[in-house]
Amino acid sequence: MLKFKVVKVNAYDYFCAVRRKKKNIVLEKLLVSDYAAEGKSLARVEGKVIFIENVVPGDVVDVRLLKNKKDWAEGVPVFTHSYSADRVQPFCRHFGICGGCQWQMLPYAKQLEYKFRQVEETLKRIGKVALPPSLPIIGAAGTTHYRNKIEYTFGNKRYLTREELGDESQSSEADVAGFHAKGLFDKVVDIQECHLQEAPTNEIRLAVKELAIANGWPFYDIKNHHGFLRTMQVRLCTTGELMVNIMVGENDAEKINRLMEEVAARFPSITTLLYTINTKWNDSLHDLEPVVYSGKGYVVEELRTATDGKSYRFKIGPKSFFQTNTKQAERLYQITNEFAGLTGNETVYDLYCGTGSIGIFVSGGAKKIIGVEMIPAAIEDAKENAALNGITSADFFAGDVADICTPGFFATHGRPDVIITDPPRAGMHEKLVRQILDMAAPTVVYVSCNPATQARDLNLLDEKYAVTMVQPVDMFPHTHHIENVVQLKLKF
Ligand code: SAH
Repeated sequence: MLKFKVVKVNAYDYFCAVRRKKKNIVLEKLLVSDYAAEGKSLARVEGKVIFIENVVPGDVVDVRLLKNKKDWAEGVPVFTHSYSADRVQPFCRHFGICGGCQWQMLPYAKQLEYKFRQVEETLKRIGKVALPPSLPIIGAAGTTHYRNKIEYTFGNKRYLTREELGDESQSSEADVAGFHAKGLFDKVVDIQECHLQEAPTNEIRLAVKELAIANGWPFYDIKNHHGFLRTMQVRLCTTGELMVNIMVGENDAEKINRLMEEVAARFPSITTLLYTINTKWNDSLHDLEPVVYSGKGYVVEELRTATDGKSYRFKIGPKSFFQTNTKQAERLYQITNEFAGLTGNETVYDLYCGTGSIGIFVSGGAKKIIGVEMIPAAIEDAKENAALNGITSADFFAGDVADICTPGFFATHGRPDVIITDPPRAGMHEKLVRQILDMAAPTVVYVSCNPATQARDLNLLDEKYAVTMVQPVDMFPHTHHIENVVQLKLKF
C-alpha cells in the first residue's frame, strides 16, 4: 500500500501542478520514447525530459516523480497501461526482485543497440570532439552464466514481495541465501537459481544453506551483528579451477571444520576451499585473512591473444581483482592490443593496471611494460603474474597515477610509445590528463567503463590527440553497464 496520497495529473495539467508545487505528482500515460543512460529510459512532456527507472522504450506508464527540476524530472512507474512490443519474457524467476540482471525484459540485440547508441551519443554530447564512426558493438556469445566471480549473502531476514507484505501468514524471519535486496541492506532475496555463473555454483549455495539449517547454525543478522554464516564467494575459471571462500561471523572451530569437511566432500570439483572469519560489522574482505582449508589458495585463469594465439595465465587469490567476464575480457584486451598497434619495439605504460592483466596480455608485442596502480596488493599480484608468464620486461609500481606519472618517472622508465589507461568510473584525474598531454606518446588507448567520464577526458585530450577508433564491448549482458575502448593518435 502506498503511504502517501497520490495526486494524479495528466501531462496537460502537469505544469500547473508544478507551479502550485504539489508533491507526489503522478504523470499519467507517458509514452517512454527512448533509452537515456544508466538503465533509465525517458519520456518527454511539453519539452521537459522525464527519466524513468524500470521501463523500456515503448511502454506506456503512470510515473510518480521523485525529483522535479526545471528542465528535467525523475520518477518511477506506478502503473503500466501497455508494455512495449520490444519486451520479452525474462528468463529468471527472480527478475524484478533481485537487482542482478535488470535488462532481461529486453532482447539481447536491443540491449546492444541501446548500449551502442549510448556510447555514440555520450561521446558526441559530452566529448564535443571529432569522432570516427564507432565500430559495431562486440556482444557476448554467452549472455548467461558469464561471471567468473560471484558473491552470495546469507541472512536471517527474507525479502518480502509487495504481495507477500500484504499477506499476514508471510514472515521475513527466515534463513536465506542470495543477494541483498535493492535498497534494503538487511533483507536478502532468497535465490533458488541464479543464471550468472555455471554449475555447480547454485548447488554449492543451496547445499551450504541446507547444511547450516540442518545443523542449526545461525545465519547472519546484519542489523544486530551476530550469526555464523555470512557470505560466500565463488570464482570459477575457464580453466575449470574453482575457488570457494565462505565468510563466517563466529570463530568457532567445530562449526567451521564441519562446514569445510561437508562442502569439500560434496563438491570434489572445488579445487581450493577457504574460509574467512569476519567478526567486523561490514562484509569487506580486504582487511581480513582468508584461511586455506584445501588446495593452493588461489585459482588460475587464462586469456588468449587473437594475433599469435598465445595464452597468458593469471593467478587470482580470494582478494585479487580480475575482470569478471573472462570471455569478454579476452575480447576487450584483444581490442586494446590491436589499438595499441605494437611491433615489438614499444615502451608501453599500463595505467590503472590492477593486477597487471592488460600489460601482461600485450607484453608479447612490446619491448617493455610499465604498470601503475594504487593498491599495493594488486601490484604484488601483477608482479607474480608477470613471473608466472615468464615476462621479465615488465615493472609495476604502486601509487596514485596522478602522483607517480611525473616527467621524471617517464624519463627514468622510458618515453612512452603507447599509453594504455583503464581508469575507474570517475575517469582520469585531470593532473594525469595533463601529464599524458605533456608526454605526447604517439598512441593512447583509453579503456573505459563509463562513457561520460571518458568523453570528458577525450575533450581535454583533444588539445593534442585525435580519436581514431571507437569500439564498444559488452561485458555484462542483461545489465546496462558498458565498456568502451578508444584509440587516440597524436595530431602533430
Ligand atoms: N586494468 C585493470 C584494472 C582496471 S580497474 C584490469 O583490466 O583488470 C581500475 C583500477 O584503477 C583499479 O585496480 C583501481 O584500484 C585503480 N585505481 C583507481 N584510482 C587510482 C589512482 N588514482 N591511481 C592508481 N590506480 C587507481
